[in-house]
Formats: sequence, structure tokens, C-alpha cells
Amino acid sequence: MGQELIKLSHINKSYGDGKFSVPVLHDVSLSIEEGEYLAIMGPSGSGKSTLMNMIGCLDRPDSGEYTLAGENVFSLDDNGLSRLRNRTIGFVFQNFNLLPRETVLENVALPLLYAGVARAERLERAREVLEGVGLSDRVEFYPTQLSGGQKQRVAIARAMVNRPRVLLADEPTGALDSASGRQVMEIFQRLNDVGVTIVMITHAQEIADRARRTIHIFDGEVRE
Ligand code: ADP
Ligand code: MG
Repeated sequence: MGQELIKLSHINKSYGDGKFSVPVLHDVSLSIEEGEYLAIMGPSGSGKSTLMNMIGCLDRPDSGEYTLAGENVFSLDDNGLSRLRNRTIGFVFQNFNLLPRETVLENVALPLLYAGVARAERLERAREVLEGVGLSDRVEFYPTQLSGGQKQRVAIARAMVNRPRVLLADEPTGALDSASGRQVMEIFQRLNDVGVTIVMITHAQEIADRARRTIHIFDGEVRE
């Protein structure tokens, strides 16, 4: 902890153009240190997912600057951006986004294919992270054969298989019952305990309470 990992400065983003332009992020500045556990709260439509896509290098702003792990994000071309993203950030979504026709093991191993890791090592590392989320006995299952909580644990394993420094989670418990949500929160806590920076979007106060810092976003403006 202590070193700045994520620094967004004066980010503006609108969708559409001309008179149909809809402003979504207004002059957003946000600094996150390595090892932090941050919750981002705000009502539906306030710009949370847009902000997460910005932090995750999935989207570019109309103006503003972003330094991630010492790199000037918006000066990179698309290749440079996806390389930085793949080695620095893992993503978890509300609806899991698993590939339905691939096994649990193949789903988790997939990011390592893009990272150029050989197949035997891919499968070994996928097994290891699946063990870490308590799913060793489900590696040959397909996503449709799992509960929501199990699917989200597979998604977390997939997000972590590349050993990213940051885990970005967009309403990770939004589709889960409370017991499964608690399991997900326990895994996030364990990851944070070993130094993974966690940025989690939620609109549930009891979920945000797990984080060490909470920021609020209203109509595209961030308030600490
Ligand atoms: P949240 O995640 O807080 O619910 P979003 O970031 O998804 O909010 O959306 C913020 C606003 O931006 C909403 O008004 C939404 O309709 C609009 N928006 C999001 N994505 C797009 C898009 N691709 N095109 C046009 N408008 C969009
Ligand atoms: Mg959203």
C-alpha cells in the first residue's frame, strides 16, 4: 500500500453527439493506491459502469488523463492498451460472462491463452486458482451445471488466473443470494489480504461496507 496505481484526472465522457449528446462522466478525478479496497456506489444510470470501463481500459474518454501502473493509458494504441489491460486487470461482472460451451477449467484457462502460456501450464494454473475458490470438484462441469454463486467463483478464478494487480468487479453480488454473496465477499477479502487492489461497484450498502473506502457517484460526478 502507499503507491498510486490508478490515477484518473478530469475525465469527461458523453455518449452520442450534437444535440443528442448525453454527458455521462463529468470532470472525474480519482486516485487509487496499490492494495486499496474501494467500493463505488451510486444509483442506476449514474455512470458506475462507464467509470469502471474507463478504469478497465475498455473505453476512452472525450477528455482527461489516466495513469495506470505508471503508464499513460490514453497515449497507447489498441494493442498496447490490451496488453496493459491483460497483465494488470481482472474483471468480474454481475452476470458472470462465462462461455457456456466450455468447461469450468477451459473458461478459467482461457486468459492464459491470450497471454501466450503453453497448454499444460494453462490447465495447471487454472486448477490452482479453482482450488483457491473451492471448486476443485467442478473443473469438468459446464457453467449451466453450476449455481449462481459457483459461476461467480469461476469468474473470479478466471479474473485472477493472470495474477493481475487489480480486480474490477461490477455489481459482483447483484445476481446472487445473500449466502453466495457472502462467499464472494470472503474471496475478495482474501485477495485483498495478499495485496490485490479491489475496485467494486455495488448499490448494496452491506456489500460496500466490506471495502475500506467508499466513493459515491451521482449523475456522473464523483464525491468522496
Ligand atoms: P450505471 O452503471 O451507474 O447504471 P452506466 O454507466 O451504465 O450507469 O450508464 C450511465 C448513463 O450513460 C446512462 O444514462 C446510460 O443510459 C448511458 N449510457 C451508457 N452506455 C451507453 C452507450 N453505449 N450509449 C449511449 N448511452 C449510454
Ligand atoms: Mg452498471
